[in-house]
Amino acid sequence: MSPSRVLVLNSGSSSVKYQLLDMDAGRRLAAGLVERIGERTSLVRHTPLAPGGRTRERTGQVADHDAALKAMAGELAADGLGLDSPELAAIGHRVVHGGMHFTEPTVIDDRVLAEIERLIPVAPLHNPANLTGIRTAMTLRPDLPQVAVFDTSFHTTMPESAARYAIDVRTADEHRIRRYGFHGTSHAYVSRETATLLGRAPEEVNVIVLHLGNGASASAVRGGRCVDTSMGLTPLEGLVMGTRSGDMDPAVIFHLMRVGGMSADEIDTLLNKKSGLVGLCGDNDMREIRRRIDEGDEQAKLAFDIYIHRLKKYIGAYYAVLGRVDAVAFTAGVGENAAPVREAAVAGLEGLGLAVDGERNAVRGGGPRLISPDGARVAVAVVPTDEEMEIAQQTYALVGKNN
Ligand code: AMP
Repeated sequence: MSPSRVLVLNSGSSSVKYQLLDMDAGRRLAAGLVERIGERTSLVRHTPLAPGGRTRERTGQVADHDAALKAMAGELAADGLGLDSPELAAIGHRVVHGGMHFTEPTVIDDRVLAEIERLIPVAPLHNPANLTGIRTAMTLRPDLPQVAVFDTSFHTTMPESAARYAIDVRTADEHRIRRYGFHGTSHAYVSRETATLLGRAPEEVNVIVLHLGNGASASAVRGGRCVDTSMGLTPLEGLVMGTRSGDMDPAVIFHLMRVGGMSADEIDTLLNKKSGLVGLCGDNDMREIRRRIDEGDEQAKLAFDIYIHRLKKYIGAYYAVLGRVDAVAFTAGVGENAAPVREAAVAGLEGLGLAVDGERNAVRGGGPRLISPDGARVAVAVVPTDEEMEIAQQTYALVGKNN
């Protein structure tokens, strides 16, 4: 039997998340994370996903990514799932920025590493951490194919009219400034799952995907191909997020520099970490915001209203971009769990054929499901995302093709 396991790695600057999946059986074998790498109180949490498996947690210093991956390898080995197993087919890596170069998942070699490195100026926070994870994993199993799956790839089909900013073309080209978009594995997975839910082929349907997590983005997907998305050069553009501002007049930045005396780094932190819901009301967890609204908190209510107003604008904009919409799909932490957000986002859009059935919308948990009333012109759906499964599937498909 050929090897059918794929290890998925998502390496951040101070954390590594991982999942081991069996692709023939279509199931997860284990999942875990190492957090606060480099600090004295690093956390290793590992969950074997076999029946009766129990989560193990320990704290203690994990010095660097090398130590983090060794800790992960030790945990997997303790469950009989060691990385030396001949069953392991490949390692799939989440890579945030693939620029315009990587339109598809790619087997990693020196040339690919160099290109990911070349993209660091447009992804200074993410690509270095992703690279460290890849290089470390390569030392663990140098014989194994390692595949990069890019957050940006799904969006490389956007037409120039959607991807380009209206700034001087030479300046834009010199600095590779354009809308790249992120969360691509999620938008790809959810748009396909939505088509399946409708019982149709992805090529036949137009979907607006609303990925509403702590980071949030919308995309317009025509016949399985992305034609517009809300995040841009970086994940800062677009929707109101947990801690990011999303869209605003770029002149706010000059104003903060000239009048507010702030540096570029300070403004970067303000807009990425201290804005969005947390900036508006002090909380970025939608559960807490709803609880405060129920208690009559005006600040939380205003933050919620601003969040919904922006979301509605994107639904309307992407409706216009697509011309015909078959489905609107809600996904990620907020999209999958917050019924009031879904209800408010489509309220008043009956004229566009959009509506939510109260009872269906109130159902919690479960797989992909419709929440629009029977006979609705546009399906409204909740479609849980699964970025790890998507990365594993893309990795496995690529490695299988090359074998
Ligand atoms: P994600 O980035 O996809 O993991 O989403 C994380 C966010 O989902 C959290 O910050 C919460 O705002 C939101 N969230 C998670 N669970 C719930 C829930 N049960 N109800 C409302 N919001 C939730």
